[in-house]
Order: sequence, then structure tokens, then C-alpha cells
Amino acid sequence: MAAMTLPAVAWAVPMDKAQRLQVAVQKSGRLTDHCLDLLARCGLKSSRGKDQLLCFGENMPLDVLLVRDDDIPDLVREDVCDLGIVGGNVLEERRLACLAAGIGPLFEVLQPLDFGRCRLSIAVPEGCAWAGPQSLTGLRIATTYPYLTEQYLHQHGVQAQIMTLSGAVEIAPRLGRAEAICDLVSTGGTLRANHLTEVATIFESQALLIRTPVPLSPDKEAWLQRILMRIDGVQQVKESKYIMLHAPRSALPEIRRLLPGSEYPTIVPLEGTTEKVAVHAVCRENVFWETLEALKAAGASALLVLPVEKMLP
Ligand code: ATP
Ligand code: ZN
Repeated sequence: MAAMTLPAVAWAVPMDKAQRLQVAVQKSGRLTDHCLDLLARCGLKSSRGKDQLLCFGENMPLDVLLVRDDDIPDLVREDVCDLGIVGGNVLEERRLACLAAGIGPLFEVLQPLDFGRCRLSIAVPEGCAWAGPQSLTGLRIATTYPYLTEQYLHQHGVQAQIMTLSGAVEIAPRLGRAEAICDLVSTGGTLRANHLTEVATIFESQALLIRTPVPLSPDKEAWLQRILMRIDGVQQVKESKYIMLHAPRSALPEIRRLLPGSEYPTIVPLEGTTEKVAVHAVCRENVFWETLEALKAAGASALLVLPVEKMLP
């Protein structure tokens, strides 16, 4: 096969590794939009061309490298990129493979990102008896995750044959290539469509932010800490709401009890009345209609719920 050629545009942007952080994210797939959205919420302004491999950060020393998700653990482990965002499933499989091959040092997990949630599960054809992991004894299990599957079998002392495939795992039983599979599941729709039943979850996954094992320069480390704080802020505001309401002073204890996930509400006097006050609070949980109705029943009026855009502790 011809050597991979990179589009000229990838080299048209300055890649100053000494000064700028490089973050590897999936080029096109389930994680892509979430990753780019998170980076944008952290304040990154970058432009992305159609076949572009590198997005240059215009307002931060942070560039985004767009690659296949399977390449991300090694790009970070080998310090080609300082940071990466990748599914825990891909990362853990690669970690086990590296350990088995004696490769190190590895990537370091900085933060779970609360998207790309899925699970790696064992599934068998509908109607097959399942009495726990021992039921896999002697079977052929098709998977693209041989190391995670092997770890599960080993933990349960089960002897089975792992069939490593590069894709289309869910049709392996129908093709007579395996009696069970170990594959990613989110809704279970693909399994149902292929007449398979999920019988055991072996790994719960979400997207993770990882970093190189190599120390960063002080400037890059400082930027990384700023980005981590911003990610924290983005994650905190996801569910947060700002509630404003009026309440009789006498109802304050009950109203404070009802406000979901708010520690210290601000109490503001209202012009023209000593009996009522305004209550402002950041609620770190979603605010449902039921909560508003309960607040109203407790004496609150003029209720207002606003989204929170940014938050720094
Ligand atoms: P690439 O071309 O980058 O190799 P891919 O086909 O391997 O892409 P996707 O299907 O886009 O990968 O999934 C990327 C990641 O999204 C998975 O590794 C997993 O962490 C996560 N994910 C979330 N839900 C699911 C799901 N239902 N099925 C598969 N992956 C999921
Ligand atoms: Zn992949």
C-alpha cells in the first residue's frame, strides 16, 4: 500500500509542539461532535476544514488533531500529542495490550468527560441458556476487544476461545463463526436486530481525557490546568440552573429544603415589604416542574429558572 500522504493543509499551519498543546480527537464518529463541542465550550476558537487533520486554535495555544479513535492512545503514549480524548473501552484495551507486550510508560487518565457512554457486553443468541460466565466454557466468542474479553474470562476462570475480528461482530453467530460475542452496546438495538441477548456487562465506558507520560513545559502545564478547570466548569453547569423566586420570610426554611442541590441561597430584601424576600440560588441538579410546584405550594411566587452558561468555583 502507498505510504500515507497528509493533505498539504495539515502542514500549512504552524505546529509548534514546544509552545502549543496538541489534543487528539476522533476525526469522524460518535465522539467527534461531543469533543469539538466541549473544546468550544472551554473557549477554543478553531476552524475545521473538510479533510483537515489539524485545527489550529486561534485564541489559545491548543491545536486539535483529528484521527481515528484507535490511534489516540498511542499518539498520546508516544508523546506525539500531549492530550487525547478517547473512549475508555479503546483505552483499556490498548492498556492491556501494552502491558502484555511490556510496553511503557503509558498514557495518564486526567478526567472522565461524561459523554460517549456505552458498555462492553457479552451477548448470546436468543433462547440460549445462561447460568453465568461458566456458560461460556468451550464456546467461541467473537470480539474486537480480545484483551478485555480475555481478562473477563480469566477473572471467572473460564476457558473459551476468543475470535478476534475487526468489525461486524454481531453477525458472527449467524455466520457460524462464533457461539457468543463481546461487543459495545448502548441501547441494545443492534443486538435485538441480530437476535442476540445481552447476558453480562464486562466494562462500563465513557470518553476520557488522557495526557502524555512526558512532563509538559511550565507554560503548557499552566494551560492544561486552565483547560481542566474550564472542563470542570462546563461539566458543572450542564445540570445547573439559576432559580429566582419571592418568598415570605416564614417560608424560608421549607423553601431552602426544597431547592435541589443548592447550599447557600442569596436572600435579597424587596423594596416596599419586610415580609417577603427574594431568593436566588444555583441548583446543581435539574429543576423539574414538580419542584417548582412544591416551591409554589410552600409559599413561593414569581418563580424564574434560568440556564447557567459558565461557572468557576
Ligand atoms: P474510527 O473510524 O475513529 O475508528 P469507530 O467506528 O471505531 O471509529 P465509533 O463507532 O465512532 O468508532 O465509536 C467511537 C466510540 O464511541 C467508541 O469506542 C465508544 O467509546 C463510544 N460509543 C458510544 N456509544 C457507542 C455505541 N453504541 N457503539 C459503539 N461505540 C459507542
Ligand atoms: Zn475505531
